[in-house]
Amino acid sequence: MSAPERTRVAVVGGGPAGMVLGLLLARGGIDVVVLEKHADFLRDFRGDTVHASTLTLLDELGLATAFGRLPARLLDRAEIRLDAGTARLTNLGASIPGRHRGIALVPQWDFLEMLARAAEEEPCFTLVRSAEAVGLAHDGARVAGVRWREYVPGAGASPGGAQREVRTLAADLVVACDGRGSAVRDAAGLVARRFGGAMDVWWFRLPRREGDPAGGIGRLSSGSFLIRIDRGDYWQCGYVIPKGADAELRAEGIEAFREHVARLAPEIADRLSEGPRSMDDVKLLDVRIERLPRWHLDGLLCLGDAAHPMSPVGGVGINLAIQDAVAAARIVGGRMRRQAGPVPESVLAAVQRRRWWPTALLQGFQRMAYALVVRRALGRKDLPRREPRGMPLPLRLLTRFPALQRFPAYFVAIGPRPEHAPEWARRPEPL
Ligand SMILES: Cc1cc2nc3c(=O)[nH]c(=O)nc-3n(C[C@H](O)[C@H](O)[C@H](O)COP(=O)(O)OP(=O)(O)OC[C@H]3O[C@@H](n4cnc5c(N)ncnc54)[C@H](O)[C@@H]3O)c2cc1C
Repeated sequence: MSAPERTRVAVVGGGPAGMVLGLLLARGGIDVVVLEKHADFLRDFRGDTVHASTLTLLDELGLATAFGRLPARLLDRAEIRLDAGTARLTNLGASIPGRHRGIALVPQWDFLEMLARAAEEEPCFTLVRSAEAVGLAHDGARVAGVRWREYVPGAGASPGGAQREVRTLAADLVVACDGRGSAVRDAAGLVARRFGGAMDVWWFRLPRREGDPAGGIGRLSSGSFLIRIDRGDYWQCGYVIPKGADAELRAEGIEAFREHVARLAPEIADRLSEGPRSMDDVKLLDVRIERLPRWHLDGLLCLGDAAHPMSPVGGVGINLAIQDAVAAARIVGGRMRRQAGPVPESVLAAVQRRRWWPTALLQGFQRMAYALVVRRALGRKDLPRREPRGMPLPLRLLTRFPALQRFPAYFVAIGPRPEHAPEWARRPEPL
């Protein structure tokens, strides 16, 4: 597998954070290599939301036309159905300022492929697919590169896996964008703080029929919580379960699962037999909310989920990872364009300072939404379940005073401290 042996910036992970960072730095004339573990961007569901602030970023990068060619749906309304009534949030899109008034749902692989194509137009950019980072290289105390090998799915623990040649990509700066299970973060010995939000989610798909409502729908009843996201011809569904209950509930089998879902949402019971065939088709997401106290070492910076794994609540992780990448490109890229050689750690610390409070605020929002809505529905395993008494106060207020919907809408679709592309990375739309 051919790959450079030296670069200025080695980005580990070609997810939303890594691809945006790679694109921006390359447009600034900085040599960058992105090492992506997989051969393509096709994954199980990882969240497909492209938020209003990311859409504005795409305008700045001259990628709105390319993005417009992708199969997108606009999410601008949501419904939360409880035994006590339904909270309809139909005022979400209208209250978002600017040109983009909602969240676009786009298959993540299409979105990442579009970014890869744009980046590959830049002579300074290299994407190495099937490249798995396995450790770091050091020059004294400074991180001076990444150790990586070809990734062969399923070969990790086999004898053949151990024989695959490990190579070193030397770099002035290594950026860990390798997600919530970051191997680079672990190799660096950086340990994240774990916060509450104790739930897990089962993900699965169901067909969507003509006449089904549009948007996102949450259904809460005592002990159960189901969310559905309109993806055109199918519903992406998430069934929330108490943390650690996966094995016990899974053992009940597919029929018991179908019965739970049918009781919770009888309107979709007619298509459950066309959904998951066995519990193997129901994927577990181990939900975590974590944050590194320190996102950097000399020669190393962590961004996106590698620095702060997000819960799927509010669907804000992709946008946050992209905003981290834009801030890092502006701060670190600005410095690298002016000066050759390694980047002082104080510059990396400036990226953390800029992105720390938006991250802490969004994670606080995820923990609050969990405490006020999800935990109430799930009950605690060690306590007898209480029937919810009515609609949680935040939902009651949002329904009674629709003007209040602008606050969560702005918070989710734009996010705290939206970042903008540096001038040197902007391009006009192609004619
Ligand atoms: C089931 C699920 C649903 C979600 N839903 C939403 C949603 O609707 N909206 C939303 O905004 N967020 C959602 N999230 C969260 C969101 O996916 C993450 O917050 C976001 O993708 C983080 O982006 P990232 O670039 O930091 O990391 P990731 O997207 O995790 O990308 C990491 C990349 O690094 C690669 N990689 C991993 N290890 C290595 C290695 N050793 N070497 C090289 N490459 C490596 C991976 O293959 C991957 O491409 C969801 C998450 C999950 C799991």
